[in-house]
Amino acid sequence: AKKRGRNTYSFFTDSMNQEAARRLQLEEQMHGALDRGEFEVFYQPKVDVASECITGVEALLRWQNPVLGSVSPMVFIPVAEQTGLILALGHFVLEQSLQQLQQWQSMGLNDFTMAVNLSPVQFRSATLAAEVEQALAIAGLSGNSLELEITEGVLMSGQALVDDTLATLTAMGITIAMDDFGTGYSSLSYLRRYPFHVLKIDRSFVNDIAEDPADRELVCAAIAMAQGLGLKVVAEGVETREQLRILAGYGCDVVQGYLFSKPVTAGELTAMLLEQRKH
Ligand code: C2E
Ligand code: CA
Ligand code: CA
Ligand code: CA
Repeated sequence: AKKRGRNTYSFFTDSMNQEAARRLQLEEQMHGALDRGEFEVFYQPKVDVASECITGVEALLRWQNPVLGSVSPMVFIPVAEQTGLILALGHFVLEQSLQQLQQWQSMGLNDFTMAVNLSPVQFRSATLAAEVEQALAIAGLSGNSLELEITEGVLMSGQALVDDTLATLTAMGITIAMDDFGTGYSSLSYLRRYPFHVLKIDRSFVNDIAEDPADRELVCAAIAMAQGLGLKVVAEGVETREQLRILAGYGCDVVQGYLFSKPVTAGELTAMLLEQRKH
């Protein structure tokens, strides 16, 4: 029993050490990665259900590291939030994506908006709204072409500051989207509390929509509620025609997912937009 106890103990320490070592390596590699040009912004189209035209794109961060390879944002964003690097990363995404949008507009590809994800950590900064305003000014864009996606995690930041920041952003003509709807604990009170324009239904609800009647009911109710509140609805993670057909039947406005495209490089998206313009 004693021996087994020790083995069990060492098993746990090993896995904990591995976990800690992995985390340390991640932090180590992340240090300076932005300056080394390892981060790149990819873009995923948002497609209008009625016309099947691209009406927007979401900027999604990618990290390619020589030691770790390609690291998922699901892994590196939480670490960046803990180390504070998310502030620099968030600034990078905002700057890159708006400059890219300006470039698309100057090519006459100007009938869609850019959506950028904001971390709750960015909302703890009193200068967030000014930072966004400056990024728009540098790119020569108005707030109307920008959409900001926020999760209910911002609820845990300072209330007055979040209220102020959202009011300023909204006054600039920026669209505010509630991201990951349905995954948190307080999606409803959060929806009531803030001036959202768009509701994004999380991918986890869309996944089994064709097979699971309960998921269909939930999505149907969420869309009806959003419509009642005057919000536009975007469904994430649409991978099949059948999912699209069901969502369209419920009145969903916009879809995003592998059915139309994965997140792609700016160059690849340019090709898609030029192709769309031909039709
Ligand atoms: P999210 O904001 O909910 O973004 C949607 C995620 O779903 C993206 O994963 C996207 O690639 C993925 N996705 C889209 N359509 C499909 C589909 O049809 N099937 C499947 N299986 N997946 C689909 P990604 O790019 O790995 O990003 C994961 C999360 O990391 C994002 O979730 C977001 O919370 C965070 N993230 C990514 N980029 C940024 C960023 O620039 N800033 C911040 N703060 N967070 C970011
Ligand atoms: Ca998002
Ligand atoms: Ca999501
Ligand atoms: Ca998310």
